[in-house]
Amino acid sequence: MRDFTLRTYQSLLVAFQQAGYQFQTFEELMTCPIEGKSVVMRHDVDELAWNALKMAQLECELGVRATYFFRIVKQSNVPEVIEQIVGLGHEVGYHYEDLALAEGDETEAIKTFGEHLNYFRKFYPVRSVCMHGSSTSEYDNRLLWKNHSLSDYGLVGEPYLSVDFDKVFYLTDTGYAWDGGKFATRDIVESGFGLRFHKTSQIVECIKNGNFPKKALILAHTLWTDSLMQWDWLHIREFFRNNLKLLAKNNPVVERFYRRMVEMYWKK
Ligand SMILES: [Zn+2]
Repeated sequence: MRDFTLRTYQSLLVAFQQAGYQFQTFEELMTCPIEGKSVVMRHDVDELAWNALKMAQLECELGVRATYFFRIVKQSNVPEVIEQIVGLGHEVGYHYEDLALAEGDETEAIKTFGEHLNYFRKFYPVRSVCMHGSSTSEYDNRLLWKNHSLSDYGLVGEPYLSVDFDKVFYLTDTGYAWDGGKFATRDIVESGFGLRFHKTSQIVECIKNGNFPKKALILAHTLWTDSLMQWDWLHIREFFRNNLKLLAKNNPVVERFYRRMVEMYWKK
C-alpha cells in the first residue's frame, strides 16, 4: 500500500481514536492540556494549500481538530483555503519566516512579523506561531525571540520554544519518512523516547500494541495525497530534493545550486 496518502492518514487517525487518544489543538496544549492520552496534529502548510484543505476535511469527518500553520508566501497563503479550514473548526497559526525574509534585519523582521500576524488574524484569532525552517537561509527564524516575547504579541506558544519534548513525543514526516530527520535543516527536536518509525503502518502497529507514548505532537506536511499522479511527482521531487540537500551540506557548489533552485521555486 502506498504511504502518505489520505487513506493512510485516515488509518493513523482512526488508530489513535480506537486506542483512546483525544485530539487537541496546539493552542489547547498550551492553555488547557488534556490529562490523559492526547495527540496534537500540526500541519505546516509550506505549499500545496489545497492539500491541506483535503486533510482538514478528512479530520473534520472523523471529529478531529488540528492546527494549521500558514506561511505568507502565495503557495501557502490561499485565503479560500484558510477560510474553509477555519470553518471546519481547526486552529490556524502563522508559520513565520520573517527573519529569513528580512535577511537577518531584526527590526525589519519584527515589523513584518506583526503585520503578517495581523493579516492572519483577519481569518482566525491566532494565538500560536511556528517557525518555518528556511533551509536555504543562514538565518534561524526563531532568533526573532531573542529580544522579543511571544506574549507581547498575544501568543501562547511556539512549538520549538514552548514544548518539553521529553514529555511530549515528537514525530515529523520530513522528506516523506517518519525517520527522515537527516534531511531536515532546522526542524529537528531531540527526544528521549527511543522510538523510531519509517512507515505510517509502523506507527499504527505501535499504537495498537499500546507502546506509543501517552502524549505526542505530530507534524504532517501537505504532501499527503490520494492523487496517483501528484503522489508520484512529489515522491520523485522529494527524492531529488533530499539528496541535493544532503550533498549541499558539504559541497558549496551544490549548495549554491540548491539555494538558487529554491529561490526560483518560491518566486514563481
Ligand atoms: Zn515550514
